[in-house]
Amino acid sequence: MSEPLFKSLVIVGLGLIGSSVARALKDRAGDKIGKIGLYDAQPEVRQRCQSLGLGDEICEDLSQAVSQADGVMFCVPVGANASLAQSIGPHLKAGTIVTDVGSVKQSFIRDVGSWLPEGVHLVPGHPVAGTEHSGPDAGFGALFQDRWCILTPPSNTDSQAIARVSALWEIMGANVEIMEAQHHDLVLAVTSHLPHLIAYTIVGTASDLETVTEKECVKFAAGGFRDFTRIAASDPVMWRDIFLNNREAALEILGRFTEDLFALQRAIRWGEGETLEALFQRTRKIRRDVIDAKQA
Ligand code: NAP
Repeated sequence: MSEPLFKSLVIVGLGLIGSSVARALKDRAGDKIGKIGLYDAQPEVRQRCQSLGLGDEICEDLSQAVSQADGVMFCVPVGANASLAQSIGPHLKAGTIVTDVGSVKQSFIRDVGSWLPEGVHLVPGHPVAGTEHSGPDAGFGALFQDRWCILTPPSNTDSQAIARVSALWEIMGANVEIMEAQHHDLVLAVTSHLPHLIAYTIVGTASDLETVTEKECVKFAAGGFRDFTRIAASDPVMWRDIFLNNREAALEILGRFTEDLFALQRAIRWGEGETLEALFQRTRKIRRDVIDAKQA
């Protein structure tokens, strides 16, 4: 029998993503993972995962669990990475791979890297898959199927460590892409962070209106508002942390967006139908490209 990919993998944070990883590996990893340990800061969440039958072991003592692991995956909100790394860092042994699923990558390297002892490998990751729900009951094993997982290893990272984390995501059905952390944060600012900010804004604006009631917004939501309300229902803590930790890229993209919005405002004011139609044609094509790429 060949060596497992990880003899002991500990998943920390058992919400939507952590519990989905646990489910996906349970469904698909077979003997490629020796033992899957699960830990969450909340005792009720640990208990819930126990009753859902996730993982091989629910860890009560995280320091002890990570000291015996050869893989640790952070699945906590981005703002919790630094304190988690500080608390487990001294217990990690050389050769262990620390990875994550967080939506911002430069801050993960900054917040976690300095707490890792010599010989521990850092392979940051971000599965581009999710829903607006949170917690262990929201997870499902097929979440990563045919989705991208972006790895952003610093340039001096051990290639074997990168290969093992890539293989882990491929077991879960994901396609893996390697990218520089800074570029990841800019790309995701466009494709994920800005859309969420727009959704939060639109839903907030609508609820502040005095002449159109909230009741009317809900009643006639099918006109487009409904899709924004789904995105705007995403976890407040997770998204607070994303904007605070990807500040530079978010502000850069927001600046561009604001300029484009003003250009549209001007086109509407001056009756420039051609400008509006040309843009709407271009964006309709992007939607078709997303569908063709099976990312819809
Ligand atoms: P979630 O459902 O809110 O779950 C996070 C879990 O981690 C919660 O149970 C939380 O407990 C726990 N936690 C927080 N700090 C901890 C700590 N120091 N030690 C152990 N457990 C801790 O969040 P999620 O949606 O799974 O997101 C997790 C990560 O995945 C985030 O970094 C996010 O950026 C990334 N991500 C999310 C999505 C998505 O669509 N949701 C997609 C891709 C990537 P408390 O409730 O006490 O905080």
